[in-house]
This record gives sequence, C-alpha cells and structure tokens, in this order.
Amino acid sequence: MTPPLLSNRIALLPKAELHLHLEGSIQPATVCLLTARHGLVMTEQEVRQRYACANFPEFIQAFKWVTSFLREPEDYALIARDLAEHLLTQRVVYTEVTLSIGVMLLRKQRPEANFEALLRATEPFQSRGLRFQWVFDAARQFGADRAMEVVECAKRCDSKAIVAFSIGGDELSVQTREFRPVYNRAAQVGLHRLMHAGEVGGPEKIREAIELLGAERIGHGIAAINDPELMDLLAERNIPLEICPTSNMKTAALARQLRCQEARIEDHPLPKFLRHGIPIVLSTDDPAMFQTTLHEEYVNAARMGLREHELTQIVAMGFECAFMPAGERRGA
Ligand SMILES: [Zn+2]
Repeated sequence: MTPPLLSNRIALLPKAELHLHLEGSIQPATVCLLTARHGLVMTEQEVRQRYACANFPEFIQAFKWVTSFLREPEDYALIARDLAEHLLTQRVVYTEVTLSIGVMLLRKQRPEANFEALLRATEPFQSRGLRFQWVFDAARQFGADRAMEVVECAKRCDSKAIVAFSIGGDELSVQTREFRPVYNRAAQVGLHRLMHAGEVGGPEKIREAIELLGAERIGHGIAAINDPELMDLLAERNIPLEICPTSNMKTAALARQLRCQEARIEDHPLPKFLRHGIPIVLSTDDPAMFQTTLHEEYVNAARMGLREHELTQIVAMGFECAFMPAGERRGA
C-alpha cells in the first residue's frame, strides 16, 4: 500500500492526462441524465452493471451501448463538462482527450457540430486551470476508408486544439499496413500519430505501428514485455507507452499478455518498462467505465513497487510526452 503522506504528495502535483476517451468517462449519474433525455429511465446501479466487463469484447459492447445515447451536440457538451469537473478533482491541468469520431460518422452525425459543442463546453475551464486538446480517433475494425474520413474530418474542423489522429478498437481486426495512407495523410495535415497497439495484440502490432505508420506514442503497448528487443527500440527512440493499469486488469489484457488465468496489479510490467528507460504516460483510459481515477493509477503504480521519485518522474513525463509546444509546458 502507498503510505498516506506519499499518496498526498503525489495527489497534490499538477498532472497531465493523455490517454483518456471522452465516451469512456461518463459517470453513471450522467449516463442516467443522458438516457432520460432520450426516453429511458435507468438507475446508477443499472449503469454500473452495463459497464461491468470481464474481457475486451465485453468492454467494446459496453462502450457501444453508452455511446448509443450520444445523439446531439448538447449530449457531448454535457459529458465534457462532467469530465472537466472530474479532472479538476484529480489536479489535472492539461489533457489530450480522445474522441470517437469514427462512431459519430457511423451514426451519421456531424462531428463538426459535436466538436464545436465540446469546444464551447470546455473553454471556460481554461480559466480554472484546465486546458483541453483533442485526439480524433477511428475504430480499427471499421477499416481504412472510414479511418481516412476521420482524418479529413479533423482537417475540416481546422482547429489548433486537434493535435493528433489515433486508431483504437479491435486490434485483432484489420491489418496495420492497410492504414498506411491514412497515417501519411494525418501527418500531411499536421496531426501527430497515435495508435492502440500491444494491448490485446502481440508485440508485432507495436512494431508495425512504429515502423509502418510512424506512431509517436503507443496506446497500452504492454505486449512489449514479451519482446526485449522491442523494449530496447522503445527506449532508444524515446517512444512513450500510455499505460492504463486498471484498464488492463478489467479487460483481462494483462492476464492475456502474461499468459496466466488471472493477473494481479503487482504483476504489471510498468516498473520494468520505466526502469528500462521507456517513457511512461500513466493514464486512466476509460475512468468511468473502469471505475478508476488518475490518482488511483498512481496508487496502483506504488503497489507495483515504484518509489516516490519514480512516481514524480512519471508525473513529469506526462508533460514531456504531451503534444504542446515546448514553451507552453508546465508541470511538476
Ligand atoms: Zn484507449
């Protein structure tokens, strides 16, 4: 367990949160408001039951379910305000929030209108010390053409606050190489390149994301623990892994990578990555769905055996790995 004083000192440090999905951050009380807006009365307990998952496919189902209630720009504004208030309780001063644009397009919505509502909803939080930037995300299983539409949508939105393009979703679906033109186009329009890889897939998915697509940070990447040469490459090229410990437990991705029935948080490879010289971005992924907080993830990191100076180092790396101009960086 973390000694309380250490826990308090870490809690008080300003932090960056870089791997965070807006749609996975809707607290149960807010889901109840959303469903009521669309004619369905639910209790928070029922929402928690819908959120519970035992593996990755069940998580995807729960994500699909909750996003089905995001229908109007005002729905997005509501959940963004909710997330912002939550982030302030975690001493987060800077965040890069991932938006499932692929899901909006699938549902025939106008992402531009949703994004405008998000900008309006989050702008007032700047004066309260919380800055938002955005990552436009495509779902891997929808294929390369749909992903290209997400990049074009980012270009049309023409906002400096959109800093990156990412692909998440089912890592075991479409081949990485098919997204090459999409990532080339993303770079051409000035977006940083991200990808979820090595979460449930093997280390080769991480290599492909780096070598074929030019990924600058890797979402999860825990499969690297099974490939020492890949760990060397991540350290040498300074490519961060966005590590989300609770998520890896709840989707059973950790047990899968460690090839065991049930993994414990103490078994997470985060300390090995950090001590190997790989930059670490500690994050919550989908905090409401996984019932976690950024502070809880630091407590988890301490449970894995990290010392206070290492936790402080991770806080600082959150800012170093962020997509903001060097002159604007602030932090611990
Ligand atoms: Zn994620």
